[in-house]
Amino acid sequence: MKEFFRRTRKGFASEQGPQEQTQIPDDLWVKCTSCREIIYKKELNDNLKVCPKCSHHMRMSAREWIGLLDVGSFSETDSNLLPTDPLGFVTPDEAYADKLKKSQQRTGMTDAVISGVGSINGLWLAIGVGDFAFMGSSMGSVYGEKMARAAERAADLGIPLLTVNTSGGARQQEGVIALMQMAKVTMALTRLAEARQPHIAILVDPCYGGVTASYPSVADVIIAEPGANIGFAGKRLIEQIMRQKLPAGFQTSEFMLDHGMIDMVVARSDLRDTVARLLRLFSGRPRPAEPAEPVTPAPTYATGRA
Ligand SMILES: [Zn+2]
Repeated sequence: MKEFFRRTRKGFASEQGPQEQTQIPDDLWVKCTSCREIIYKKELNDNLKVCPKCSHHMRMSAREWIGLLDVGSFSETDSNLLPTDPLGFVTPDEAYADKLKKSQQRTGMTDAVISGVGSINGLWLAIGVGDFAFMGSSMGSVYGEKMARAAERAADLGIPLLTVNTSGGARQQEGVIALMQMAKVTMALTRLAEARQPHIAILVDPCYGGVTASYPSVADVIIAEPGANIGFAGKRLIEQIMRQKLPAGFQTSEFMLDHGMIDMVVARSDLRDTVARLLRLFSGRPRPAEPAEPVTPAPTYATGRA
């Protein structure tokens, strides 16, 4: 009997934050974080991680975002960039160096961004994608360097830049070096502008702090996913400082669209086609006479992180 009470409920909670905590033990079923519907995981993955019942857009990893490019077109760049601990940052809870190691083991990534070159409908672009699972996709030196190099690579190759942006803000543990990244990436974008190539930024839930306040907000086209939370400081913090209630829907994509902060809200299922249309528009190429080949690639991420 004693053993029964001591039994730990293994598998009912993961260490990966609130989104993953809704997973059901055998990993085959996922509970929608919005409508609480239990969804077969394969069905959810086949639907690009959009809830089939309420259309809630769940988080995708950077690798899953890469899966939206043409099959086999992606080649990763700058994967050799590794984060350092310039301040020797330690809190009573944990040292930054240890936190980095743990995040690397858990996600299989070296830092919060994956960058490279790939194509959408045969149109080539440089790409940088943030992954919220890696320390809240906070912008440290590696994040900034990868995004800046992606912009410079796009300028050098004469191709557009696509960034997929999700972040909790600057990486506090890297102090002023983290803050510098805002200016660095934005400066790299001026080279892209000189090369007369566009930057298309996709804002994904959640997108906050120094990321929202820098390079994605000066993109040529700013796209957001439906219902994504986008802002600088969080709603609660602003309410505390201003001592007044903020309107409903404040900081959602739709609110941002109404107030001119972004250009369009696009459902994930339409994202590939929308980006392809924009790329074609910017390239000045005519619409292909032949109907395009099937546009949606088979999702390559159903088995988890590659
Ligand atoms: Zn739902």
